[in-house]
Amino acid sequence: MKDSNCIFCMIANGEIPSRTILENERFRVILDNGPATRGHALVLPKEHFANLFDMPEDWLKDAAVTAQQAAGRIRDKLSIDGLNIVQNNGEAAGQTVHHFHIHVIPRYKDDGQKILWSPRHPSDSELDAVCGELNA
Ligand code: 5GP
Ligand code: ZN
Repeated sequence: MKDSNCIFCMIANGEIPSRTILENERFRVILDNGPATRGHALVLPKEHFANLFDMPEDWLKDAAVTAQQAAGRIRDKLSIDGLNIVQNNGEAAGQTVHHFHIHVIPRYKDDGQKILWSPRHPSDSELDAVCGELNA
């Protein structure tokens, strides 16, 4: 199902022009217009799913394969030093467009971006508590 008010639905289905680097039956991969680095791409499903939790399992598998293909293209064509896959869900996690997407972000030595987090230092009992909650 598409959402007629969703910009990524329109882009994924070619109703709004985009800089497409790869396309298949279910996905369009475009260049992000506010890129973290040169070649930063977005994997967009052609159907509307708000986030990871709404993605059917078969779509998710195809999304992972499409992201891998896009990553391979980027690695082969640009002189990259590394690559991050990022996928945000919910505003607290930084999601600004509520149509599932995977960021494929090439990294360059000294590119000045900070995509990694600062590690915290929980006690053993805090780690045990969260592990217990997740297994309950
Ligand atoms: P989020 O923060 O939701 O994970 O990522 C949304 C991303 O989409 C951002 O990196 C932003 O630059 C990109 N973006 C938002 N609107 C457009 C658009 O109209 N065209 C393109 N190419 N990228 C967009
Ligand atoms: Zn959409």
